[in-house]
Amino acid sequence: MDLGLTDRCVVVTGGSSGIGLAAVRILLKDGARVAFCARGAERLEAVAAELGDAYGPDRVLARAFSVLDPEAVAGFAEEVGQRFGGCDALVTNAGQGRVSTYADTSDADWREELELKFFSQLHPIRAFEAMLRASGQGAIVAVNSLLALQPEPHMVCTSAARAGVQNLLKSLATELAPDIRVNSILLGLVDSAQWQRRYEAREDKAQSREDWFAALARAKKIPLGRLGQPEEPARAIAFLASPASSYITGAKLEISGGVSRFA
Ligand code: NDP
Repeated sequence: MDLGLTDRCVVVTGGSSGIGLAAVRILLKDGARVAFCARGAERLEAVAAELGDAYGPDRVLARAFSVLDPEAVAGFAEEVGQRFGGCDALVTNAGQGRVSTYADTSDADWREELELKFFSQLHPIRAFEAMLRASGQGAIVAVNSLLALQPEPHMVCTSAARAGVQNLLKSLATELAPDIRVNSILLGLVDSAQWQRRYEAREDKAQSREDWFAALARAKKIPLGRLGQPEEPARAIAFLASPASSYITGAKLEISGGVSRFA
């Protein structure tokens, strides 16, 4: 299926690893020009060099900064405009989860988590809004979690923040229409750097990676019996970022192997 991404400019936050990187790869393969960011320069530059070799350095732009720094995000948007002449889609993916219960989340943790979840959306959306409006087919795809609708007791703070973000996205889908479509994906468990870190911190160091992930899928009762691979949500991101989803806005697509408990 041709998604109509040829020569479109797509921006992906958090593009040096996991789901963001898988999305960058798919978008480039589908003919888009892609700008992406992450905080860590070393990994970002290695990825950008590899992708530049594969797809042409003129189709790839990578810059190291945090999406929580509004001036850096605005500077990036300016550079994207200069290099690519605009922006057709924005994927707000940068971030990470916080494992904490109500009892062990301090006020400072709450503030940090709410800042990360809200401003990792708000700063990039503000910075790219004008270009997305000018695109004629502007699209925002927000990467969120099933925790927004289905909180987990060990991730209380993250779940509450994600619920707020989902609510915000619904409002934006109305306020930014008809110029910009706003959709989200709700992730279950996807095998990426976050889960790799948790695997490396496992108690039983004798347990193999395969066994640890299989036990995790069983414990989480995932109907499809495994964690997702980053390419699986990335394909949905590419679709929602593309003109192929031109009549979809305000929607959320669950990518979780069927783990949700609501109808
Ligand atoms: P990874 O850790 O593999 O990738 C996260 C990416 O975001 C990296 O490129 C990281 O690079 C970047 N990043 C993190 N914080 C910032 C920041 N403040 N500014 C700019 N870049 C940043 O994680 P995933 O691919 O798993 O996660 C992608 C998104 O999906 C995240 O928002 C995560 O919370 C969400 N998610 C993931 C789930 C999963 O099971 N994997 C489940 C639910 C939600 P660097 O560290 O160098 O900045």
